[in-house]
Amino acid sequence: MTPLSNSLADADIANVLHPNTNMRQHERTGPLVIDRGEGIRVYDNTGKEYIEGLAGLWSVAVGFSEPRLAEAAHRQMLKLPYYHTFSSKSHEPSIRLAEKLVEMTPPNISRAFFTSSGSEANDTIVKMVWYMNNALGRPNKKKFLSRIKGYHGITVASGSLTGLPTNHRDFDLPAIPVHHLTCPHFYRFGAPGEDEAAFTARLLAELETVIATEGADTIAAFIGEPLMAAGGVMPPPVGYWEGVERICRAHDILIVSDEVICGFGRLGTPFGCQKYGFTPDIMTLSKQITSSYMPLAAVLFSDPIYQAIADNSEKIGMFGHGYTASGHPVATAVALENLAIIEERDLMGNAARLEAQFQAGLQAFADHPLVGEARGAGLIGAVELVADKATRKPFDKLGRAGALASTIGHEEGLIFRAIGDQLALCPPLIVTPEDITEIMTRMGRTLDRLTGAVAAEGLA
Ligand code: PMP
Repeated sequence: MTPLSNSLADADIANVLHPNTNMRQHERTGPLVIDRGEGIRVYDNTGKEYIEGLAGLWSVAVGFSEPRLAEAAHRQMLKLPYYHTFSSKSHEPSIRLAEKLVEMTPPNISRAFFTSSGSEANDTIVKMVWYMNNALGRPNKKKFLSRIKGYHGITVASGSLTGLPTNHRDFDLPAIPVHHLTCPHFYRFGAPGEDEAAFTARLLAELETVIATEGADTIAAFIGEPLMAAGGVMPPPVGYWEGVERICRAHDILIVSDEVICGFGRLGTPFGCQKYGFTPDIMTLSKQITSSYMPLAAVLFSDPIYQAIADNSEKIGMFGHGYTASGHPVATAVALENLAIIEERDLMGNAARLEAQFQAGLQAFADHPLVGEARGAGLIGAVELVADKATRKPFDKLGRAGALASTIGHEEGLIFRAIGDQLALCPPLIVTPEDITEIMTRMGRTLDRLTGAVAAEGLA
């Protein structure tokens, strides 16, 4: 056993394996230990203040230390701290939350299934769709279509849907039948001389070709984030989602909208599918559902899917899927209170109203010598760092400029997410115009200091 250490940082280094972390680097530099949070700010264990420009992991909609969520958890803990939802057992918070989510989502959506994480929710979707197609007598209709740079989680099935090399490499993924289509990011994946409309047409033609080659009778579903977030914050090109929807409908392929980041107002609409004008058969919801105060996710799905699953559950005895914490009473009670706050304070409206200021703030960095592209929608965005603005050439040592930016950002009191050399911002939905100005000021200072740091390291 590792001996107890005096300092938190030493104890962390000695005992913790961190997600998404270069552990040897971590052993050298240690953790940033966050001690408390208040509104859009967090404070480390030396008392230093940071604006949490990524809302934790894209998720703390109502800000940190909202007493109403603590009180909702406390009330539920005292009344019924735990119960399950297996074998027809139920409890009020999970019933009321399912009812609320069905009411909030598009009219074709009719049921909710609860999990504790987005990854579990997407694994559930894979299994639900397989179960449904077995029930409907189409055992070959099992493949998923996803996109390169899509993010859908890290468990075995959801990690297979994810289209990022670091989540596959050396994990033996993908482990389920999935085809990753071209990433719909024009700046990086557009061909020389191609305009955005031609790019969209090429992506849709690729989708048609893959369906023709693989056979529509082998493809169950298309999964995508309305706006691809964790892969680098990439809004889709105009016409993309309309085209995907048309093609999937023509081939009886279900559409899964992974709303884990876009859901609950991030893009200024209740759900991301509404921003881009498509109607999914299945939705994955998480993160802002509880402002991440409790782990919770939900799969929302249409009535035909429910009917096939319900019929099969009677035929073979049960829908044999579920988690100990499916619909956990404390998590669902906190979600209900969180959604009430989002509504009462019109936080989705706040995102819609502040979109122009936030996106203009990002666009102001587009002229910076290190920035290749500034992009986003609603209250989410990114700047992409490049070695050469004119040719869009990335830095050879990919991720180093991003890591330097993160360190400088911390010194400047701003936490954002460096995704390689893409710096992502996704502040809590409670931000004010003054907060956005402050976020952009700190980001501007970070970029200006980064110029010197990049030169000092000789990055090219
Ligand atoms: N889907 C999307 C779109 C996500 O952004 C994430 C997490 N960032 C997930 C799924 C996985 O969620 P979790 O980390 O809760 O498993």
